Amino acid sequence: MSTQTSRPSLWRRYLDFPLIWKLAIGLVAGAVTGLAVGEPVTVIAPLGELFLRLLEMLVMPLVIVTLIAGVSAVTPAALGRIGFKVFLFYLVTSAFAITVGLLIALAIAPGTGISMPGAAGEEGEEPPPVSETLLDIVPANPFQALAEGNVLAVMFAAIAAGIALTFMRGSDDERIRDLGDFLRRGVDGAVELVFLVIRGVLQYAPIGVFALIAVVMGETGTEALGPLAKLIGVVYGGIALQIVVYIGILLLFRVGIRRFFGAAKDPMMTAFVTRSSSGTLPVSSRAAEKLGVHEGVYGFSLPLGATINMDGTAIYVGAATVFVANVSGAELTIAELLTVVLIGVLASIGTAGVPGAGLIMLTMTVSQTGLSMAPVALVAGIDAILDMARTMCNVTGDLVGTRIVARTEPGMLRDSDPPGPEDGTEESRASSAP
Ligand code: ASP
Repeated sequence: MSTQTSRPSLWRRYLDFPLIWKLAIGLVAGAVTGLAVGEPVTVIAPLGELFLRLLEMLVMPLVIVTLIAGVSAVTPAALGRIGFKVFLFYLVTSAFAITVGLLIALAIAPGTGISMPGAAGEEGEEPPPVSETLLDIVPANPFQALAEGNVLAVMFAAIAAGIALTFMRGSDDERIRDLGDFLRRGVDGAVELVFLVIRGVLQYAPIGVFALIAVVMGETGTEALGPLAKLIGVVYGGIALQIVVYIGILLLFRVGIRRFFGAAKDPMMTAFVTRSSSGTLPVSSRAAEKLGVHEGVYGFSLPLGATINMDGTAIYVGAATVFVANVSGAELTIAELLTVVLIGVLASIGTAGVPGAGLIMLTMTVSQTGLSMAPVALVAGIDAILDMARTMCNVTGDLVGTRIVARTEPGMLRDSDPPGPEDGTEESRASSAP
């Protein structure tokens, strides 16, 4: 980017101020404003909505270009290996997370002492059959999938295009090879372009963060939190434990913790306020770039993770199911607990990373275990507060998986780990000015 000397110096100073500080100031100021002003603060909701839209605008273009660029840069065999590892990591950590949520909640019993007036089991939502979830991955019309924001289906089409591009570039026919190289350059250019827009959007992030958090705090207020403090404690505690587990995994694979979190803090904060893993995708992809991860890994693992890997949500579903059982005075049998684990993991595959998705998953689990639906309404009252932490955990899990898999794949890291500035490598797309 060229430096424009005519830029007002205040703007320049704003640009040079570290992003994480701008976000942190937005977060604290927004929370205080929301609590002080209360409900009327919702007039600034459009400012937060604007930030969400700017991020969402980037998601589909980002998924397509990084996946085609990434897939066409690795051999089909390497792609299969990377896919297997990423999937395994997501599955194991999700199953672990939901078990953690259940165990902590069983030990602390967050719902005891609260009784629910009236009400028992209305019908909740049924999970879609597994076969349907899997079939939906193949788009009958990729353009429709694109317009509908169906990440898995778009990923499928982009991977097919990426593999075809690999074959074009390896063709014996010179004409096909030339066309393949031409397309590849185009895709590379498009990746650069999308990252440039992401950098621009992030300059608006502090205002968006301020508005989003102010609205959540203003709407929820402190009174709503009191009776449910135990549930909030269990979910936040479980998530803290999961983050400790991530740190353990990173250490095990000898990945520098400081550098990892130095890059991960922006997407973590963005996830916290936007409550959407999918919406945070542009910021997490930028963090993966900062960590030196090749798009052959993150182009695949991050959109997949935003859709199917939800460790924070799994903890929440486990803990909240126990809460619901406690409030309605029911005992969960071992068989029911196992059902919760199974449904929790399966439901997370079919549920996109958008705000409130976990609440739908909770409804599914509660109805499948035959518990009363009424206490779910209590959880819904503070869902935003829980959603913030679980989305942050979800996004961190995606990045940990991405970083670990890149570590174990030859050629999938642009630079080796320990050295380098906290904010990433100079040559990476993510870290050049502004
Ligand atoms: N909001 C979460 C996410 O986007 C999903 C959830 O509601 O738990 O990852």
